Order: sequence, then C-alpha cells, then structure tokens
Amino acid sequence: MVHLTTQENWSEIWFQAIQTAKIIGFVPTMGALHEGHLQLIRASKSSCDLTVVSIFVNPSQFNNSADFDAYPTTLASDLEKLRQENVDVVYTPSVEEIYPESPELRFSFGALETKLEGAFRPGHFNGVGLVVSKLFNIIRPQVAFFGQKDLQQVAIIKRLVKDLSFPIDLVIVPTMREADGLAMSSRNLRLSPMHREASLILINSLNKAKKELIAGKGWFETQQEIVCDFEKSQLAKLEYFELIDPASFEVQTEFNPSVLISICVAAYLGEIRLIDNISINF
Ligand code: AMP
Repeated sequence: MVHLTTQENWSEIWFQAIQTAKIIGFVPTMGALHEGHLQLIRASKSSCDLTVVSIFVNPSQFNNSADFDAYPTTLASDLEKLRQENVDVVYTPSVEEIYPESPELRFSFGALETKLEGAFRPGHFNGVGLVVSKLFNIIRPQVAFFGQKDLQQVAIIKRLVKDLSFPIDLVIVPTMREADGLAMSSRNLRLSPMHREASLILINSLNKAKKELIAGKGWFETQQEIVCDFEKSQLAKLEYFELIDPASFEVQTEFNPSVLISICVAAYLGEIRLIDNISINF
C-alpha cells in the first residue's frame, strides 16, 4: 500500500494507471474506520483496478468546533485495516495541503440544503461540497463510493457531480449496521455505555414508523408517536424525524406507497449527534 501525505507523487501513479487503462475507485473518509467504511472499500476493490482511500477530517464541514476537536482519530489502526483490505493508495493530507488559503468560493445547493442536516448544521454542505470537489480534482477517479447512511450528502454529491460535470460515476453503498441495528458511525466510539444502549431508539423508531406507514397509519400520527417516544426517553434528544423524497429532499406530509420514500432521523445522545435513515420501497 502506498501512503501519500501530499498530492505530489500521486500524478505519477495516476498517469501510469490511466496509461494502462486502469479504473480508479475512490473512497473519501474522515477516518476512525469501521465496517461501514470497509464495505465501501470492498465495493471499490471488487469493481475497480486501483482503490484510493482518503482520510481527512475536513474542518470546513464542522459547524461545531467542539465536534471537530473531539472527532476520533485512529490513524495507526486505520492504516492497518486498509493494509488488510489490500487498498492500493491511502491519502492523508494535512489541513494546509487541502486549504493552503481559506477558500472564498461558497456552495449553495438551494432547496436541497435548507432542511434536515442543512438546517441543523448551517454551512455543513458548503464544506462537504468544497472538500469533495477538491478531492475529486486531486485524485481524478472514474468511480467514487459513498454511503447511504448519509442520505442527504448523497443527494448533495449527486447534484455536485451533475452541476460541475465531474466525469465520475457514483456508487451508493447500503448502510452497515451493528448486530443490534445501530448504524455504524465513527461517532459511536464516543458514546458512553448508557448512551450506546439508548441509541437504539434511532433504528427502532425508523422501523416502527415504517411498519405503521405500511399498515396504513397516517404520517402525522406516526411522527407524533415517535416524538412522544423520544420525549419519554430521558437520554435521547430528537432533532428531526421526517419523511422525505430522497432525490429532492422535499419533506413529505403523507406516505405514498407507489414512490420511493425515506424516513430520516437525527438525535443527540448526550453530546453525540447521530443520524440514520431507512427507505421504504416495494
Ligand atoms: P465519514 O468518514 O463519516 O465521512 O464517512 C465516509 C464514507 O463512509 C461516507 O460516504 C459515509 O456515508 C460512509 N459511511 C459511514 N458510515 C457508514 C455505514 N454505517 N455504512 C455505510 N457507509 C457508511
């Protein structure tokens, strides 16, 4: 595995790969790697000739500096995991490498970013747009892999690729979960045992709402029930629980079984903010 901390030597590897008609697959991450990340890497390994993983905790996508400061970094064990997966190249740039100057450019994703994550984390998707564009321009992959766990990010990146004509195919990988259903996340490492147990309210409420909608219950009633469940839990503080169209991220007021629809949730477990979603399709 080649470990690059600057983009300097990448051009040579890229050029050789392109000359020999190799397909480059790219998996951008913020590190603290878990099985969810490894699923993306395995998807790249199985469909591309050369897999590049980046590890970069991107300051510009954190609207909360305490969250940035506390973000877990586990570089030595990350590198070991990547070696075991036979990743070809890992790129771990410094903040100065990615942001030699504070960027003036600002991304606006219009209606896509005015709700849910966009509303609760102002500036977050501007930071995502910036770093993903920069990494796409540095690595120049033909294929890039993202997780369905961050569903609104998927919609944002699809838009970014379309609007800026990045010649990159996107592959979206289903959410990897712990045995008890909690969506894997680097932030799970920071949960206290008590909050880890209480965190199951996210997936349980998504499953409960899905079941009720399929059984014919109205969305408003279902949503109210979930809000009450969270209020009863002393440990989980709900931010949102919404029914959305996953393409436009328009909030839906009723369940239409003939279209693909998703339920998205965000909640705090103590200091830790977790998100999750499930899709309902027939
Ligand atoms: P992050 O390191 O949190 O920025 O995540 C890097 C990539 O891994 C993103 O495309 C995430 O959507 C994806 N990812 C994170 N958690 C999971 C998971 N549990 N299952 C599948 N993909 C995930």
